Amino acid sequence: MSATFSSNAPAGPDAAPVLIEIQLPDGTVKQVPTGTTAFQVAEGISPRLAAASVVARVRPLRGAGLRTGGADAEDAPSEAGMYAAEDAGAERLVDLSAPLTEDVALQLLTEKDAESLKVVRHSAAHVMATAVLELFPETKLGHGPATDAGFFYDFYREAPFSADDLKAIEAKMAEVVARDEKFVREREPRADALARFRANGDFMKTHFVERFTHEGEEVSFYRNGAFEDFCRGPHVPSTGRVKAFKVTSLAGAYWLGDEKNPQLQRMYGTAFFSQKELDAHFARLEEIAKRDHRVLGKQLDLFSIQELAGAGLVFFHPKGAIIRKAMEDWMKEECIRRGYDLVYTPHVAKINLWQTSGHEGFYAQNMFTPMELDDAIYRMKPMNCPFHILIYKNSPKSYRDLPVRYAELGNVYRYERSGTMHGLLRVRGFTQDDAHIFCMPSQIEDEVVGCIDFAEAVLKTFGFSEFQVELSTWDPKDRASWAGSDENWAAATGALERALSRKGIAYKTIPGEAAFYGPKIDIKLVDVLGRLWQLSTVQFDFNLPARFELEYVGEDGERHQPVMVHRALFGSVERFFGVLIEHYAGAFPLWLSPVQVGLVPISERHLPYAEKVQRLLQDAGLRVELDARNEKMNAKIRDLTMQKVPYVLVMGDKEAEAETVSVRTRGKGDGGSMPLSEFVAKAAGLVRTNSTEL
Ligand SMILES: [Zn+2]
Ligand SMILES: [Zn+2]
Repeated sequence: MSATFSSNAPAGPDAAPVLIEIQLPDGTVKQVPTGTTAFQVAEGISPRLAAASVVARVRPLRGAGLRTGGADAEDAPSEAGMYAAEDAGAERLVDLSAPLTEDVALQLLTEKDAESLKVVRHSAAHVMATAVLELFPETKLGHGPATDAGFFYDFYREAPFSADDLKAIEAKMAEVVARDEKFVREREPRADALARFRANGDFMKTHFVERFTHEGEEVSFYRNGAFEDFCRGPHVPSTGRVKAFKVTSLAGAYWLGDEKNPQLQRMYGTAFFSQKELDAHFARLEEIAKRDHRVLGKQLDLFSIQELAGAGLVFFHPKGAIIRKAMEDWMKEECIRRGYDLVYTPHVAKINLWQTSGHEGFYAQNMFTPMELDDAIYRMKPMNCPFHILIYKNSPKSYRDLPVRYAELGNVYRYERSGTMHGLLRVRGFTQDDAHIFCMPSQIEDEVVGCIDFAEAVLKTFGFSEFQVELSTWDPKDRASWAGSDENWAAATGALERALSRKGIAYKTIPGEAAFYGPKIDIKLVDVLGRLWQLSTVQFDFNLPARFELEYVGEDGERHQPVMVHRALFGSVERFFGVLIEHYAGAFPLWLSPVQVGLVPISERHLPYAEKVQRLLQDAGLRVELDARNEKMNAKIRDLTMQKVPYVLVMGDKEAEAETVSVRTRGKGDGGSMPLSEFVAKAAGLVRTNSTEL
């Protein structure tokens, strides 16, 4: 392993220094004496760059330098990645203080590079372990990798760490950072390291050395002050570079995941380049928690999941049901407008159908178990496709009938392991806005364009402006994993590509990720917090038309097999609803709001006018809640505001006399009074146009 580092002695004073070549990203090549560090190279360019650099990436210019080994360094949570010797010929991250001893391409990474943050976080894990050992010297160390969200360290200690301990550890970490101790890489013969760890009772470190290094090697350590950890690095130059961090939580984990082993305490933390970024991170987490659809679902009384009925089965309460109705009405009308036929199909079918479709073979583990009745065995449907196919097959089709587009808001049931369900996002029973298009190969491209248009309309109407598109294709080298001929795949993939380019949509191609029955387009929407949600999908299918022997009579009078497209745009009504709740934090656009207008008569004598206003608004199709309770006006306004009602109308003598209403708009406050007729027209107009404005 150590060719790079054990032969790094600088040349003696009387020998001419051995020179190596350093190639910089701009193509310049510098000649420097062997043993020069990346930090020295940076200083030679500019002291500012040297100060800003966090770590360096090197790629040997000679020999086996073609393989990129970056994955090892990036997959920090993998233990092998943390300890195993790096491939000396591969591209890798090294400490700024590492002596360079061969010709390399060198890149200095600063805070602008994502990989630097992982190095900071892993260094923060060392700082945390330093603090833990200073406060609780009896603790034994496991491992402490960076993760996507921060870092953790596994500790073994009989007594559990308390919340106060975590605070003390965080305070001690600040001291370690203030001491600005250098991270120094040291090497020791493997046998010596093992003997030391064994003598010290460090059972986890012993295991890591035994497992990830080889006999006769030297193993590498990182030391800062008195703290030392078996680790291959790299690290930031000193503890002072861990500028903004927080210890966040503690969880239990068995050593090596085996419950017969000692239980470890996994301590989590996170670190950023600056306090500002750290604060923004926690503000975002708070915002995410506030928007949690399970919390808002309860607060706004939208839906529930009931223990007595079963996990993953959703109950829509009246206020959630009315939103669902608005979503479904929009979807159905839009389907009709776009040339789809609406159908309804059963929730269960005989096992014979699932055998013909192939679900009984390849999808059985995702289905509810069979039910035996007097005449046959039945199963709940996990998908609607076979049902739509039966409608297609029920009468002969000619080329003039195509494309046939069947749409259904179909309830499906899929088995998810207990304990894996999550609110509306992962459930056992859900409603797909499912459609199946049967067409001739020549019609594929137009149909796919139609599906993408439709998907864009869904996103826009429901208030999402950004999305990302992926095209999943097959892997022709892995022929056994895919149904359909080479020609099928080429034609279908080509049609999807042409459809996307006709729409001018940028997309990422993901080879090998297609369903076994055909290529697909997935559309991921981006919500208000920048989170990605996979919802819409357009998938090709060569398999089902063949299994069901679907046909149409062509212009040539011969029988042909149609092509089939599955597509869902909400994906699942339940999941889409969950995403909407979080996207809007429960403050839905007017057309989706369960109560659109709240009415607050100032006193009992204004009730008749309020009732008149209520009738007028209801006649205009608006959903109204009149608060006729004998409560103070402000209490009524507060309750309606808590329910995130878009408009609250307050009515007293002045309003009753002049036929006006005093309008409070959600998020905008008191907007003064307005003629009643004007308000009705405005609100009805916003609902009619599915506006997201108020
Ligand atoms: Zn380390
Ligand atoms: Zn389908």
